[in-house]
Amino acid sequence: MTTDINSFDSIVVGAGFAGAVAARELAERGGEKVLVLESRDHIGGNCYDEPDKYGILVHVYGPHIFHTNSERAYKYLSRFTEWIDYSHEVVAKVGDEEIPVPFNLNTLRQVFPKDAEELEALLIETFGEGARVPILKLREAEDERLQKIADYVYRNIFLKYTMKQWGKKPEEIDPSVSGRVPVVISHDNRYFQDKWQGMPKEGFTKLFERLLDHEGITVKTGVDAGSFIKIENDRILVCDDVPDECDRDKASASKAGEKKKFTGKVIYTGLLDELFDCRYGRLPYRSLRFDVECRDEDRFQSHGVVNYTVSEDFTRISEFKHLTGQLDLHGTTIMREYPFAYSGAEGEVPYYAINNPENDALYARYKELADQVGLIPLGRLAEYKYYNIDAIVDHALDVMDGLIEG
Ligand code: FAD
Ligand code: UDP
Repeated sequence: MTTDINSFDSIVVGAGFAGAVAARELAERGGEKVLVLESRDHIGGNCYDEPDKYGILVHVYGPHIFHTNSERAYKYLSRFTEWIDYSHEVVAKVGDEEIPVPFNLNTLRQVFPKDAEELEALLIETFGEGARVPILKLREAEDERLQKIADYVYRNIFLKYTMKQWGKKPEEIDPSVSGRVPVVISHDNRYFQDKWQGMPKEGFTKLFERLLDHEGITVKTGVDAGSFIKIENDRILVCDDVPDECDRDKASASKAGEKKKFTGKVIYTGLLDELFDCRYGRLPYRSLRFDVECRDEDRFQSHGVVNYTVSEDFTRISEFKHLTGQLDLHGTTIMREYPFAYSGAEGEVPYYAINNPENDALYARYKELADQVGLIPLGRLAEYKYYNIDAIVDHALDVMDGLIEG
């Protein structure tokens, strides 16, 4: 079975949030026929979830919690799901203690019980109640007492965790990364302070099924676009027919010479360097190994996520039943995350762009190539940028506004 490419107005590569929102908008608002190609055997990108043997929804590519201050993103996704209220709270395991993260005034009381009142007053006086102070900024404080707090937070929350996650010290990575988990001058233990936060009631995969369920959208999973799309002489070439399933090597061999110019739009949410055969070199990424364990006990840990900030080789353990509101089910599934440098080897998945001036400059060269052929890069891989769910939904909607209305 094959599908004639000429019957489509647009091709979207990738069925994560970037691709799925783009496809829905092009089909629904733009009245287009859209072909979505996804190399994995499922939709949902890194937000994909599936039930384990106990019926608990497990996030296969790491724990995902929806949180946003964007009314547009919240309302948009609410068309495709109801929500379970869930305020994510995280603790860090420091020795035998569990301390709230982000570090806040409750954490302060726990770790400096004797002078907590004085330190709390000082933090409020210096930064203001409710302030969110990046650790790198707190470390610049001149007051000795603030230095003492900064030193504790740096050593017990950031240093080892960041070394594991990035292979670098906090001061050596883009400041916006550690800035995502600031010191919070309040008694709020929540990991995110956004107005809306929760989990899709029936899970992310169901949300994606509804998002992509439109008469104008055809989804092909198990199809790597690399075997189907080629850039040659500043033109986007595609195969005449899209196979239902594709083996990258076999398909590119058998399709050699059969590709032709595609005049519709191509929205690309995969790796930009790989699309251009890494001709300027690979874009560096961090990857993760997810170690999943099903346990025949009802509860493993106190919170959905426990960060290991001073010990262990893994960064954190997630216990999904906390996140999904399934605490009453018997059995539990936990996941440990082991970061490592992405090498491009078969089976490895790039998760985090490593943004710094050098890597961003390399990305800009690939972006220029994409611009030359009129390809539209979208999402955390194709834009070499960290996006939370709400941010990529908003951004995809903005880009589609431009394409459809402009
Ligand atoms: P993806 O979800 O990665 O989707 C891209 C898709 O394109 C993938 O399915 C991929 O298989 C496919 N693809 C790539 N190349 C090709 C190709 N050549 N051919 C066909 N298909 C291809 N955000 C939050 O808001 N809250 C969280 O709690 C949160 N937790 C996270 C935890 C982890 C461990 C990570 C890594 C990210 C987390 N995020 C979280 C961010 C969230 O995952 C992203 O915002 C979201 O996945 C971005 O969507 P995307 O479509 O850009 O990328
Ligand atoms: N971080 C840390 N200790 C923590 C939590 C976060 O050092 O307990 C740092 C680490 O560098 C991490 C960054 O802050 O990469 C951002 O944390 P976030 O929870 O946003 O990471 P992500 O969800 O992207 O894994």
